Amino acid sequence: MTKTFKTDSRQMLGRLRDVMAEDAAGQTRLDQITRLIAEEMRTEVCSIYLFRDEDTLELCATEGLNPQAVHETRLKLGEGLVGRVARTGQVVNTDDAPSAKGFRFMPETGEEAYSSFMGVPIQRLGEKLGVLVVQSKQSRLFSEEEVYAVEVVAMVLAEMAELGVFVGEGAAMSARHQQAKLFRGTTVQEGTAQGHVWLHEPRVVVTNPIAEDPARELERLHEAVETLRVGVDRMLSTAGGDKDQLDVLEAYRMFANSKGWMRRMEEDINSGLSAEAAVEKEQSAARARMNQVSDAYLRDRLHDLDDLSNRLLRILTGQGTETGAEMPPDPILIARNIGPAELLDYGRSLRGIVLEEGSVGSHAAIVARALAIPLVIHAARISNEALNGDYILVDGDQGLAHLRPDDAVVAAFRDKIAMQAQAQERYASIRDKPAETLCGQRIKLKMNAGLMADLPSLESSGAEGVGLFRTELQFLIRSHMPKRAELSELYSRVMDAAKDQRVVFRTLDIGSDKVLPYMQATDEPNPAMGWRAIRVGLDKPGVMRMQLQALIRGAKGRHLSIMFPFVAQRSEFTAARAEMDKALERERILGHPLPASIELGAMLETPSLAFAPDDFYSEVDFISVGGNDLKQFFFAADRENERVRKRYDTLNVSFLNFLEGIVYRCATTGTPLSFCGEDAGRPVEAACLAAIGFRTLSMRPASIGPVKSLLRRLDLGELRSVIHTERDRGTQSVRSAVMEYLRGRF
Ligand code: PEP
Ligand code: MG
Repeated sequence: MTKTFKTDSRQMLGRLRDVMAEDAAGQTRLDQITRLIAEEMRTEVCSIYLFRDEDTLELCATEGLNPQAVHETRLKLGEGLVGRVARTGQVVNTDDAPSAKGFRFMPETGEEAYSSFMGVPIQRLGEKLGVLVVQSKQSRLFSEEEVYAVEVVAMVLAEMAELGVFVGEGAAMSARHQQAKLFRGTTVQEGTAQGHVWLHEPRVVVTNPIAEDPARELERLHEAVETLRVGVDRMLSTAGGDKDQLDVLEAYRMFANSKGWMRRMEEDINSGLSAEAAVEKEQSAARARMNQVSDAYLRDRLHDLDDLSNRLLRILTGQGTETGAEMPPDPILIARNIGPAELLDYGRSLRGIVLEEGSVGSHAAIVARALAIPLVIHAARISNEALNGDYILVDGDQGLAHLRPDDAVVAAFRDKIAMQAQAQERYASIRDKPAETLCGQRIKLKMNAGLMADLPSLESSGAEGVGLFRTELQFLIRSHMPKRAELSELYSRVMDAAKDQRVVFRTLDIGSDKVLPYMQATDEPNPAMGWRAIRVGLDKPGVMRMQLQALIRGAKGRHLSIMFPFVAQRSEFTAARAEMDKALERERILGHPLPASIELGAMLETPSLAFAPDDFYSEVDFISVGGNDLKQFFFAADRENERVRKRYDTLNVSFLNFLEGIVYRCATTGTPLSFCGEDAGRPVEAACLAAIGFRTLSMRPASIGPVKSLLRRLDLGELRSVIHTERDRGTQSVRSAVMEYLRGRF
């Protein structure tokens, strides 16, 4: 016979609050809580399982099961019904536990006597903390109301766990945010760093999960939502034309006015939660859904709801992002995500950055690379786990972050840092020496730049000028289009900093992954092959003209080198050159000094240009191979797509043959050639590029030391013959042979 009972969650929460108020040990509290839940639910059993490590649950308290099993019974994630609840984050409610999918009998607990089982996850903002279980002998399915009541209680237990109320003996009851934790992410900027956590957005702490007075809590919720709505409307009325930003704000408005969201929070309050806890309960539910949906649009919207919930929590708790905490002297920034301008505000003060989200090609990644700050992305849930001031090690080479590491990890890490420091010393000692190989070949090593923050590296790295100045970075970090005067001032300062060394300014390379926040984004099916770089510059020449003028003015009569990105056929270069001629003529008429000399080059980033007629090679003053784009189009493998990006080796024979063809054409037409993609900064790749004939390489400043150090110990003729022998043997990639050769020599 199925019979349901009326459960009053408010009464249950009231009693829970009394337990909280008493001064008792964590274990005593858990014991009291299981007893009171069993009483309120009218079940013989109530148990609380908590995680002792990432995939093991431990029975920490029980009313009804064998007390000897407490702290003895352990389950793996996914094991038994309890493990299933923990793995899926979903409720299991059955009137016949032994026949339910995944049931596993644990004789030491004495649970064979119980038919009904309800397990509810104890989780907080997507983080799993444990499982709350009620069981009864009588075979009955728990009603929706009963499930909801237990969910509300589980939510409060999660908040209590976060506040450290259940701390006791053993790993399962150890204080939260104190254990060592390793986060595996994706590397964006290599390098290692040690320091202390600085949270970009400190978490909101909810100290009062249970409502004293539900009517008052409802009022607080309504007031806070009203403040939120007004804020969102204000943001919408002042927003610019960026479509993505408008989409987000529209979603905010939709959620802020959503009756469903409001109704669920009101129900939570009526069940006894405080307004803050109600917001967090729904936020946790949204995060759980976020982990399950694969549709990118839906995920984005759930993400928006999550952001909005955070705003609401800040309004309710009065906890802004300013907490009065002081930034440590060696800050490692932890955030879910961050924009390029915010990152620049922190500047070089940061030792390292770890993000939960982000992408390899994001603007923040570009800035982190420019600042040479180790950056790891996709470190799931790190901003939930880390506390301001926690000690942390960032391994940007492996894409790892060790939070609160134990001594053995710290020792190994420090060894690694010491070895890197030694290597840095070695690099510093050859800083003023040329990159001359054993066979007497001079290779010019230049640096890539894009921000004022890069310029001190010109001196410290020993770079022989700037081979690629990515001008779009100045556009990307602003919220408005920079003015011509602003730009010419900046270009002038860049040339001042370079003294008599050359700086190659690349005109605006936007489109594809680089979308300006203040320009109308075009919805393209495949942006990487879409309307980008020189294509935009020629079709809508206003910005390019302004930029060319700014460059001419910035030169103040000095030499000026400019290159155009993503040229795919000769006519594009010719048209760009004509724009430059017009700009020079205008400047002459206006009476501005003209550059003493000008070089105009093209970036070779599409295979088509490698096969362009000789006329093209004669027309350009120089060619710079943009290996990042060239490689993605050569192999038809998206440079932003982790899955395919690493599939094709730069040292693949086909690609090297192709590059050799470009070297040959430039040699026969007398066209100066350089290589400025990321591969130029990887010592082994750089050595191979030099071996097949590249004489100028441009790379991030930190790579100059390692590349120079290797080149100075190399005989290019020998390396070239290793490459050619391997190629003639029909091998796919020459990497192993090259590595073996290098290992044998050093
Ligand atoms: C390249 O494509 O190799 C290049 C240097 O340009 P970016 O990485 O800015 O596209
Ligand atoms: Mg490119």
